[in-house]
Amino acid sequence: DPHAAKFVYDFTEGNKDLKDLLGGKGANLAEMTNLGLPVPPGFTITTEACKVYLDSGEEPAALRDEVSAHLDALEQKMGKKLGQPENPLLVSVRSGAKFSMPGMMDTVLNIGLSDKSVKGLAEQAGDDRFAWDSYRRLIQMFGKTVLGVDGDLFEEALEKAKHAKKVTVDTDLEAADLKKLVATFKKIVKAEAGRDFPQDPREQMDLAIKAVFDSWNGDRAKLYRRQERIPHDLGTAVNVCSMVFGNLGPDSGTGVAFTRDPASGHQGVYGDYLQNAQGEDVVAGIRNTVPLAELEQIDKKSYDQLMQIMKTLENHYKDLCDIEFTIERGQLWMLQTRVGKRTAGAAFRIATQLVDQGLIDETEALQRVTGAQLAQLMFPRFDEHAKAAQVGRGIAASPGAAVGKAVFDSYTAVKWSRSGEKVILVRRETNPDDLDGMIAAEGILTSRGGKTSHAAVVARGMGKTCVCGAEELEVDTKRRRMTVPGGHVVEEGDLISIDGSSGKVYLGEVPVVPSPVVEYFEGRMHPGADDADELVEAVHRMMAFADRKRRLRVRANADNAEDALRARRFGAQGIGLCRTEHMFLGDRRELVERLILADTEEEREESLKALLPLQKKDFVELFEAMDGLPVTVRLLDPPLHEFLPDITELSVRVALAESRQEPHENDLRLLQAVHRLHEQNPMLGLRGVRLGLVIPGLFTMQVRAIAEAAAERKAAKGDPRAEIMIPLVGTVQELEIVREEADQVIADVQAATGTALRLAIGTMIELPRAALTAGQIAEAAEFFSFGTNDLTQTVWGFSRDDVEASFFTAYLEKGIFGVSPFETIDRDGVGSLVKSAAEAGRRTRPDLKLGVCGEHGGDPESVHFFHEVGLDYVSCSPFRIPVARLEAGRAAT
Ligand code: ADP
Ligand code: MG
Ligand code: MG
Repeated sequence: DPHAAKFVYDFTEGNKDLKDLLGGKGANLAEMTNLGLPVPPGFTITTEACKVYLDSGEEPAALRDEVSAHLDALEQKMGKKLGQPENPLLVSVRSGAKFSMPGMMDTVLNIGLSDKSVKGLAEQAGDDRFAWDSYRRLIQMFGKTVLGVDGDLFEEALEKAKHAKKVTVDTDLEAADLKKLVATFKKIVKAEAGRDFPQDPREQMDLAIKAVFDSWNGDRAKLYRRQERIPHDLGTAVNVCSMVFGNLGPDSGTGVAFTRDPASGHQGVYGDYLQNAQGEDVVAGIRNTVPLAELEQIDKKSYDQLMQIMKTLENHYKDLCDIEFTIERGQLWMLQTRVGKRTAGAAFRIATQLVDQGLIDETEALQRVTGAQLAQLMFPRFDEHAKAAQVGRGIAASPGAAVGKAVFDSYTAVKWSRSGEKVILVRRETNPDDLDGMIAAEGILTSRGGKTSHAAVVARGMGKTCVCGAEELEVDTKRRRMTVPGGHVVEEGDLISIDGSSGKVYLGEVPVVPSPVVEYFEGRMHPGADDADELVEAVHRMMAFADRKRRLRVRANADNAEDALRARRFGAQGIGLCRTEHMFLGDRRELVERLILADTEEEREESLKALLPLQKKDFVELFEAMDGLPVTVRLLDPPLHEFLPDITELSVRVALAESRQEPHENDLRLLQAVHRLHEQNPMLGLRGVRLGLVIPGLFTMQVRAIAEAAAERKAAKGDPRAEIMIPLVGTVQELEIVREEADQVIADVQAATGTALRLAIGTMIELPRAALTAGQIAEAAEFFSFGTNDLTQTVWGFSRDDVEASFFTAYLEKGIFGVSPFETIDRDGVGSLVKSAAEAGRRTRPDLKLGVCGEHGGDPESVHFFHEVGLDYVSCSPFRIPVARLEAGRAAT
C-alpha cells in the first residue's frame, strides 16, 4: 500500500528540509549523504513514529517490520550483521529532535556488542584493547541511559581500575583491565537495574530506540521545552547509524569543528581533536584535546579532506556550520553537522561577511539576524577586560548588566534604594509580594525557576536585568545570606554583579561600559573610523539593508525635545506619540489643581490661560527638534486624580491641621476633590476624550497651544508637521464634537497669525467599540493610531498593572500564553480587531494613515504583524527604534 505511513528513512532518502519529520540530526545526516560526503550508512525513524508511540503507549505496528527491512539493507551494504559473533556490525542509536534539546536521551554507541561478538570485533580489528574498550563503553552508556543506572557508579568503577593500575588516563588501561571492568559493569547493571545486560543485539537496539522515544517526556526535556517555548507534541526522531571507530589507536580519533569562529565570525580553523577516542570524549574533557590545526601534523590527508568538506558545507548551507567527525585508521567520517549557534555579535558579522563572499544577498542576510539580538547588543555590558570573580551561572532571563548590594527581602530593597543605594534583590524565587522590591532593585537574582518563573516574567515586563535559576547558589533568606560554590558567603550589603544577557553572577562590582552599538547610534562612533569595531560596521550595514527593504516607517514615542533628538539620531521618522500629561506635572501641578478645583468659569479660564504659554513652549521645542517630520500630539489622557496629591497623605495633613486648629481651607477643598474624583476603576473612568468633553476649555487650550506653536515655527521658517490625536474614543460622536471645537480654534489661530496651518486630526483606536465601529470613526479621523496597550487591556478585560505580577506566571506555565500579550500582540484576539479596524477605516477613507503606538511597536513579532496588516508606521520608545527598523526590514523580506 503506497499510502501506508512510512516510519523509517534511509540516510539516502532524506534531506535538510525534512527536520520536522527526521529531526535536525537526521535531516542533516541525509543532506551530507546526498552531497556525497563520507557519512557512515544508517537510517532515521521519524518523529511520526515517536508521536504514535507517545499517544498510544505502543510503537506503531508497522514500525518493527520497517526497522527490520532497513536493518537488513544496512547489513547488506556493510557486508556484516548486527552483533554477529565473528564479524559484528555495530550501530549507534542517537536521538534527534527538530530543535536540539538538552535533557533528551544521550546517544548509545557500540550497540551489537556482546560477550560473544566482542571477541569477533577484537579479531577483525586485530586489537583486543579496542574491542573491550568499546564493550565497556556500551554497557556504561546503555546502563545509564537505557536502563537508568546511576552513571556515577560506572565512573567510580573506572576510576578504581585506573587507580589500581596507577594510571591517570583511560587509554593506559589494557585489554585485560578493560575485560575486568566489563565484568564489574555487568554486575553493576544487574544489581541496579535488576536484570542482566541484554546479550541479544536486536533487543539492545529496540530498547535503545524506545528509550529515546521515552526521553521526549523526561522531566528535564519537558522543562527545557517550556522554557524555550518548544511545542510538546513534536516528538523526536531516532537515528541508527553504523559505527566508525575513533578508538582504534593513534591513527584514529574524534573531533568537533566550526566552519568559522562562532564568536567573531572570522574564517579559520576552529575546533578540537582527540586522538584514540570515541564519541563524547572530546567534549567530556577526560583527556586533553589538541587544537584542530594540529591535525595537519597528525594526519595531513584527513586534515586536507576535512578542510575541503568544511568549505563544501559552508557553500552549501551558506552559513556557519558546526560538525562532528571521526577518523578511523586514517579514514575520515562525518557524523553530524548543523547550522551553528553563534553570539548576537557574530550573527551580524557573519551575515555581512557572507554577503561580501557572495554567498547570500541582503535579503537573506536580514533573515540571519534578529531584533532580539540587536537589542541584546544595545545593553550596557560588563567590561570584558575587568577582573571579575564569577561564582555562578543561571538562566539569562532579562538582559542587562546590573551591580548592587545584595539584599534578601523586598522590604530592605525598598528601604535601601530609597536612601540612594543600588541593590540586587536575591531570592530563592519571587512571588507577587516581592513586587516593590523588584521595582526598587537594579536587578533580580533567583536560585530557582526558569524563563517563565515569576521573577523572569515580571523583570522582562519591567525591562529589568534578571538572572534566574542559578542553582549553585544557596540562598538563605532567613539569615540574609547566600553561599556560593566553594563556600564563600555573600552577606546582606555585599556587592554583587549580574549579567542578564549571559546569566553569569559575579562577586563585587564589575565595571560597566556602554555598548559600542549604542555609541554608534548616538553618533559618537562612526563606521569606518579607526576605533570602530567590526561589530559597529556590521550593524551599520545591516541597518542600511533593513532601511532599504522596509515599508513600515518607524516613529518614536517622545514627549520632549531631548528624547526627540535622540530618537532622530536612532533613525526615527517622526513622533508617533507625544504624551502631554508630563506637561501638567512639576511646577505646573498647582495650575492643574486650580483648574480641577475651579468653581467658576472665570477661575477655570484663568488657570487654562496660565497653562497655555507653557504648553506652547513645549510644543515649539518639540516641533523644532522634529522639524520636517510628523509629530502626533495626544491630548490629555490620564484620569485627573493623577494630578492631585495622594489621598492618604492629604487626609493626614488635613487631620493634623484640624487638630492643631491651623487653617486648612485649601487642603480640605483638595481632599474633597480627591474624594469626588476617586474611581474604583480609573482605567475605565473619566479619562481620555471624556475629559475633553466634560472639562470645558481643556482640549481647546491644548489645540490652541499646538496651533500657535506650529504658527510660530512657520514664522521662523521651520517645517512643523503636527498631528492632533484624541485618546480613548469609543464612538464617532465624541470625536465629531471635539473636532468641531478644534477646527474652530485652528481657524482662529490661522486668522490671528495669518499663517496657513495643516493640522491633521485623528484618533487612537484603543477600545473594542472603536475598533468595531472604525468605519464610522474614520469619517471624522484623518488617521488612526492603535493604542495596543489599552486595547489589550480592554479586549482581555484585565488591567496590566494588576495582573502581570499576579497570575501571568500561572498562565505561562499552563501554556495559556506563550508570551505575555502585553509583550507580543495577541494576533488572534487583539490583532484581529486591529486588522478589521484598519480595513474598515480604509474603506471609509482610502488615504487614512494607520499607525501603532505603545509597547508592541518595538516588539519584533508584533512589528511583523503590523507589517502584514498594512499599517503605515509603528511608534516605540527611542531605544527600541533600531530594533523596530531592523524587524520592519526583516518583515518585508
Ligand atoms: P549529541 O546530540 O549529544 O551530539 P550524537 O548522536 O551526535 O549526540 O552522538 C554523541 C557522540 O557520539 C558524538 O561525538 C558523535 O560524533 C558520536 N557518534 C555518534 N554516532 C556515531 C557512530 N555511528 N560512530 C562513531 N561515533 C558516533
Ligand atoms: Mg552530536
Ligand atoms: Mg491608552
